[in-house]
Amino acid sequence: MSVYDIDQFMGNKEAREYSWRWQKESPVWNAHPGVAHKALVDLENAGLLTLLATQNFDALHEKAGNSPDLIVNLHGTIGTSHCMRCGKQYETSDIMARLDEEPDPRCHRTYPANGEIAPRECGGILKTDVVYFGEALPDGAMEKSMHLATQADEFWVIGSTLEVFPAASLVPVAAQAGVPITIMNMGHTQYDSIATRLISDPIQDALPKLVRETIAGK
Ligand SMILES: [Zn+2]
Repeated sequence: MSVYDIDQFMGNKEAREYSWRWQKESPVWNAHPGVAHKALVDLENAGLLTLLATQNFDALHEKAGNSPDLIVNLHGTIGTSHCMRCGKQYETSDIMARLDEEPDPRCHRTYPANGEIAPRECGGILKTDVVYFGEALPDGAMEKSMHLATQADEFWVIGSTLEVFPAASLVPVAAQAGVPITIMNMGHTQYDSIATRLISDPIQDALPKLVRETIAGK
């Protein structure tokens, strides 16, 4: 069974129970922000961050304290969930807390009685906002990222192999707009040749250092 396959998830109860249980026990759900996440909060507090586009869906930038307005979760987020029938939004933590009682979580939005019609519950399937295989990227995520990336003074790639599209395409788009590119990654990427700065030190050291230098130099 696949954890993040939308057809399996919508099609059968066992797949949903497996997907929910797996996500609850996964490192993604149980992770905590590190020094690199905190450095990006410092960057925002210094007024130097206009966009934080991420392919991670662990919601750690939100947990670290960056403003949701600046964060674009290109592959969705595990932090929130929604009803596949009525669209009602849920905090994933609320659903996880009740997962033992309700292993295939359903929407409890209630509709009041209306004339002859008795009150009822929505009952739709709940799913985390992680983009599953077979689902489209969140509405407007790439458009917003493209727009802000081309307007930036600098564009930093932090810990990405730049192999996953469309996110990777932000690099050549920003470069073409004349934005200087920094690539901070332990290995080579296909866009190293258009970067103005390459940093191959571990992110937990390199990013806080780069943030400190950038804030000092503003
Ligand atoms: Zn619903």
